[in-house]
Amino acid sequence: MYSTRLSISSKELGYDWLYEDQEKRNNVLAKAKRENVTPQCLCRGKHTPLPLYITHRGKHHFLAKMPGTGGQHRHDCPFFSPRDVDSGRGTYQGAFKTQSDGRDTVRFEFPLSRKPNATHEKKDIPPAGTYQHRRGKVSLLGFLHELWTRADLIRWHPGFGNKRSWGVVQRRLYDALDELVYLGNPLSKRTYIPRPFNKDKSSNNNKWRDKLFARYTPGSAYDSPQRMLVVGQLKSIEEGKFSLIVKLKHDNYPFYVKSDVLDKAYKRFRLALKDIQDPSKACIVIMVVEFTLNGNATVYDLAAMPTTPRFIPFDSSYEHELADILIDSSYSFTKPMRYDADKDVVFPDFLLDVPGYPDPIPMEIYGMNGLSEYDKRKQEKIAHYKSKGSPYWHWDLSAQDTPPPLCFIYNK
Ligand SMILES: [Zn+2]
Repeated sequence: MYSTRLSISSKELGYDWLYEDQEKRNNVLAKAKRENVTPQCLCRGKHTPLPLYITHRGKHHFLAKMPGTGGQHRHDCPFFSPRDVDSGRGTYQGAFKTQSDGRDTVRFEFPLSRKPNATHEKKDIPPAGTYQHRRGKVSLLGFLHELWTRADLIRWHPGFGNKRSWGVVQRRLYDALDELVYLGNPLSKRTYIPRPFNKDKSSNNNKWRDKLFARYTPGSAYDSPQRMLVVGQLKSIEEGKFSLIVKLKHDNYPFYVKSDVLDKAYKRFRLALKDIQDPSKACIVIMVVEFTLNGNATVYDLAAMPTTPRFIPFDSSYEHELADILIDSSYSFTKPMRYDADKDVVFPDFLLDVPGYPDPIPMEIYGMNGLSEYDKRKQEKIAHYKSKGSPYWHWDLSAQDTPPPLCFIYNK
């Protein structure tokens, strides 16, 4: 699927060859790690090697890109990720800090730990969408965007076909969480993501979940009330006896949520939370959860993100339409995430991989006619690409209600 070549211990080998067999990959990478070798990616040619590092989860070894180098890889390389300036990630300064082992520490703007006997929530959580400057902390939605980006779920390749299942998403998210550290521990230990439902394994899966939850229930080994993160595809929001209940797909566990938390979420994440049963989309939620003395899971905050059924995120119904067209037309592309960026921050809606172009083509959808804020943004974006002298594609909604052919790429 990938034509990327790698250099490990001065030997050149194909990425696909290394990744086709887990045992082979473990042997090659474990040996390289023992010998303290720095593997390199040769996607930009032998004369421009890009450094990688070897990470492992249990016995399984993987290659990972050095932090901040994703944008240097070719768009069709497995280690590519949008440069910070091509997504909203450039908004942060200090929210993610790389440690000496290559993992990043995270600073959240919401409390994941609470002091014992504290009766009030911290009040320093700023409202969304009002940031004019760089931020040192990440919001709940921003963190979900970071997870999706790190797990490479913002990229689509026609070879993925039907392989982008919840099982794949769940595994990749946990791999990404392994590389993120909060209070000295990987966030994979503090996050619950349901395993894909399987009738034969359901009791095992429930035991695994209950064991994880028990660690965060008052009276467990932890002294102070601890919160955890829960990520999943929303199945339903039901009326319970005492409160509303959120349920995730692949699991039937009740998460109790107060109406004010949900009201706030409905206002802010309208596109994601409407029509959750619509099979043409999926609603991904991330929740901050704390357990009561009785072991009930209470949701303190919730953010939601709409995706296609193959879990490609979108920010508007037009982006949804375009993502479906790109997938149906067998294109490879990337969806840069907005994170906590202000509305006037300019970056592409999609990055399209077009044969013959060494770099991805930015794709823009311009807003409806008559809305001055959108018009202003449109002018800024056109000026931005023209000033860079690089090719781009755009769909102007005020001129046409269906997207122009994907081959209409502008050079000036
Ligand atoms: Zn590469």
